[in-house]
Amino acid sequence: MIGSSVVFRARSWTVLLLGLLTTASPAALAAECSGHPDALGTSRTLVVDPREHPRIGTMQYRETLPLKDHEVVLTFDDGPLPKYSNQVLQILANECIKATFFIIGEQAKANPEGVRKLVAAGHTVGTHSMTHPLTMNRMPIEKAEAEINGGIEWTSAAMTDPSKLAPFFRIPGLMRADGVENYLISRGIQVWSADFPADDWRHVSPDRVYQLAIQRLEAKGKGILLLHDIQARTVAALPKIIRDLKARGYRIVHVVPATADQPATPTTAVEWLLHPPTETTPIARWPQVPNFVFAQTATLPAPGLADLGAETARQPQVLPRKTMAQADIASTLPAPGRDLFAIPEGSIEVLLSTTLSRRAATRLAMAAEAPRAGKDKAGKIRGQRTARGAHPAARHATAPRPTRVATSVKKRA
Ligand SMILES: [Zn+2]
Repeated sequence: MIGSSVVFRARSWTVLLLGLLTTASPAALAAECSGHPDALGTSRTLVVDPREHPRIGTMQYRETLPLKDHEVVLTFDDGPLPKYSNQVLQILANECIKATFFIIGEQAKANPEGVRKLVAAGHTVGTHSMTHPLTMNRMPIEKAEAEINGGIEWTSAAMTDPSKLAPFFRIPGLMRADGVENYLISRGIQVWSADFPADDWRHVSPDRVYQLAIQRLEAKGKGILLLHDIQARTVAALPKIIRDLKARGYRIVHVVPATADQPATPTTAVEWLLHPPTETTPIARWPQVPNFVFAQTATLPAPGLADLGAETARQPQVLPRKTMAQADIASTLPAPGRDLFAIPEGSIEVLLSTTLSRRAATRLAMAAEAPRAGKDKAGKIRGQRTARGAHPAARHATAPRPTRVATSVKKRA
C-alpha cells in the first residue's frame, strides 16, 4: 500500500497569485513573457476539485473542464523522455505556456531530472501508470491498482517536493474500466480523458498533427488537447500549433488541483458540459475511443491487435460508435429547406407521404386510383411495413437501395 506515502499538500501562494495576475489582456500577457513579446502566454489558472468532478474529457465522459469559448488546455503524455521532453519544455517556455503532463512511472524512474524540470517550470504534473499497459480495462483490479500506485510512487519520488504531484491520472490508451475509475476516485484522483487528440502517436507527418489539432479544436471551440512529449512529430508541430492558436484568438488555461489553501475556482454544473444541452441538440454524441498505437518509443510496447478496442463494445460511454469527424460533421449539417417537404394541395399521394415513404405512398395512390378489380391489399400492407420499418430519417430521403451500393462496391473491388 502506498496510499499514505502520497500526500497532495498545499501549493504555494505564488501559483495562486500568478493565476490571479494572469487574467490580464493578451497584450499584458505578452509583455509578461520576458524576451518573447509575441508569446501566446497563459491567460488564467483554473483550480479544480477532483472530488467534485472525478471524470473529465468528452472523448469518454459527460463532463469536461469548465472552459470558456476559445480556451484550451494542453496536455502531454508518456514522458519524460529527455530528447523530446526538453524541446517541448523549451517551446512552452518561449510562449510562457503552462501545461499538464501525465508521467509514466518507468520514465520518471529512468529520468527523475525530467520530472523536476517540469515542476520547476511551473507545469502541472499528474501520472499515467507505471508501465503504460494498454490493458487496464481488462486486467485484474489488483494489477491495475499496482500500475496506478507505481506511477505515483516513482513520479513523486522524482520530485524534490512530492506535494507538487497533482491528483490527476490519465488511463493509458484511455482504456477505461469502472473498477479502475472507482479506485482512482476513491483516492480523490481525477480521471482525465481529453476532448480531442491530434493523433501524434500515429505514423503521420508533423503537419498532419498540426492540422488535426486545429481542426478538432475548431470543431469544438474549446477543450483539452491530448499530445505526447515523446514524439519528434509533436516537437515539430507544436510551434505551429501555438502560433495558430494565437492567430485564431485562443487562450491557454493552466489547470491545478484544489487544496486547503487554494479552493476550487467557482463554477456552475452546466459549465462542466462542453455544450450545454438545449431542447434541440442531442447530448449523446461521444465518439469512439481511439486505438492508441505508440511509435518511436523504445521503452513502451506496441499493443497487439488483440489489445486494441476489444472491450469497447462493453463500454456504454463510447457509444454510439461514431468517429469524431462524423460526429462533428453531423452537428454542423444545415437544416433542410422547408420546400423539401412541401405538400401540394389535393394530392393523395403526397398527403400519404407525410407518414409513408414516397415509394409506398405512390403505390397506395396508384392502388386507390386503380380499378377495384386490381385490388392491392397485400401491396398496401407491404408499403406500410416498409415505411414503419425504415429509419425516421430515411422516410424523406432518396438514398440508394442497399443492393445498388453492394453492386457498386463489388465493381470497384
Ligand atoms: Zn500514454
